[in-house]
Amino acid sequence: MSAVTHPTPSLPELRHTAAHVLAYAVQELFPDAKPTIGPAIENGFYYDFDRAQPFTPEDLERLEARMREIVAADHPMLGRQVSRDEALAFFADNPYKVEIASEIPQGEPITLYSIGAFTDLCRGGHADSTGALGAVKLTSVAGAYWRGDERNPMLQRIYGTAWHTQAELDAYLAHLEEAAKRDHRKLGAELDLFSLEEEAGGGLIFWHPKGAIVREIVERFIREGLRERGYQPVVTPHLMSEKLYATSGHLENYADSMFGPLEVEEQRFRLKPMNCPGHILIYAGRPRSYRELPIRFSEFGTVYRFERSGVLHGLTRVRGFTQDDAHLFCTPEQLQGEFEQTLDEALRLMQAFAFTGFEYALSTRKADERTQTDPTAEAAIRRALESHGLAYVVDEGGGAFYGPKLDINVRDAIGRRWQLGTVQVDFVLPERFGLKYRGSDGADHRPVMIHRALAGSMERFFGILIEHFGGAFPAWLAPVQAVVVPISEHQLEYAREVAQRLGRNAMRIEIDETNEKLGYKIRHWKQQRVPYVLVVGKQEASDGTVNVNQRGVETKRTVPIEQFFDELSAAVEQRL
Ligand SMILES: [Zn+2]
Ligand SMILES: [Zn+2]
Repeated sequence: MSAVTHPTPSLPELRHTAAHVLAYAVQELFPDAKPTIGPAIENGFYYDFDRAQPFTPEDLERLEARMREIVAADHPMLGRQVSRDEALAFFADNPYKVEIASEIPQGEPITLYSIGAFTDLCRGGHADSTGALGAVKLTSVAGAYWRGDERNPMLQRIYGTAWHTQAELDAYLAHLEEAAKRDHRKLGAELDLFSLEEEAGGGLIFWHPKGAIVREIVERFIREGLRERGYQPVVTPHLMSEKLYATSGHLENYADSMFGPLEVEEQRFRLKPMNCPGHILIYAGRPRSYRELPIRFSEFGTVYRFERSGVLHGLTRVRGFTQDDAHLFCTPEQLQGEFEQTLDEALRLMQAFAFTGFEYALSTRKADERTQTDPTAEAAIRRALESHGLAYVVDEGGGAFYGPKLDINVRDAIGRRWQLGTVQVDFVLPERFGLKYRGSDGADHRPVMIHRALAGSMERFFGILIEHFGGAFPAWLAPVQAVVVPISEHQLEYAREVAQRLGRNAMRIEIDETNEKLGYKIRHWKQQRVPYVLVVGKQEASDGTVNVNQRGVETKRTVPIEQFFDELSAAVEQRL
């Protein structure tokens, strides 16, 4: 082995090379499979093959073993430039490669890369040799249409991952396992939180009692913050005339994502894809004075957006969802202050739910023929971030044409990054709807509008929360905070008394009245991730105490009922 003499490739180079090694192994073991494309992706790579028979888990094991041999053989990666005709002749029996080669523009070089006896059409970006691959693993097989188009043949996509060292690979696999345990779709069923119902259609969420109570708590938390910051709640219809969306421009730019139209009395209606037009109608309903600004309308607004069934995913990619939406109407001078209070609110939300690693990404307004960049708005956002001492990255021109925006990202308990909030400045909708306010100078002026949703949508936020906490919600959020488990039926009466005394102040207490064995009952409630299991036997019943089994705490303790109530109240108060 001479791998040590090669320079260390980057992870994308390493993974791209691993894709070639996979295709080499497939060519040897399954000569009927036609290789198509095989790029590096985040955390790994894939390669798509056209083959009539499906690849089995055993096939993957054989392929992986063969890949290790190819890595050990340390084949150099040899590239050469060829003419179009040479390339077409070389891949004559592979229509996919022929298609790719034919599409390379005239004058651009066509390159072939070989390792051992396998040659691929590729534009490069590899390790020098297969020996550079520290650790490789094939992870799964899935169907994928050629070029992602469902009119094309279905191919088989083999996914894998590659790392510089075995230790890195092991850590990654452990992370995947942890993520799979936290999958919100799995936990959603196990903990009876929510479901999707085939009869109702895809991407529509049914919140079960235990999920709906968590949502209610999250909403209450958000509403409290909004009230303190002077937001006014509004409620707008789900169904509105299409004309409104013509004015807003959604019909022109967004029709593919909208449900409808529905025709009633020769009027066309659409399900609302966004809450903004409704809030604008309320703003525009009467003359506004500068004295009223900023006006902040908030709504847990349910919207419907069409997504193809293939991309729907649990709670995180759906067709109907409720945003913690708000629209702020202000003067240009108020922009910075409005951004600052929004940042405060975002921080409050992220901290309460124990997220870490907050990251702020500013996308400046995309300039096109309709607009010019607005340096004042961007400067206001920058000043707001800087006044809060927040670091941020800038994507120049990466925003929408209607204004700059700020995305807020967090890391969850196992280090994954999620985008939560977005704050978007909008100069275009006030223009389209002719919004104005009477200034102190007595003249009419155009307000600036800010769209902001900080949790994003209640559905997606709940999905993230489930994975972040692994279903083990802290006591203030847990659908069931404590379960009283009597040791035998003789303590049932006492268990009911305990539950009643603890159930004040909206505490969520259940009683286990089943006839199962004690060990089974405790295991069951632990699996349900309940924060406290309170066991009551003869002794507890005569002393007026409970035996507390706290989630994640090894030792049990016996305390008076009132003491436990105070403890639980304190945990809820401190959002623990
Ligand atoms: Zn390549
Ligand atoms: Zn909006």
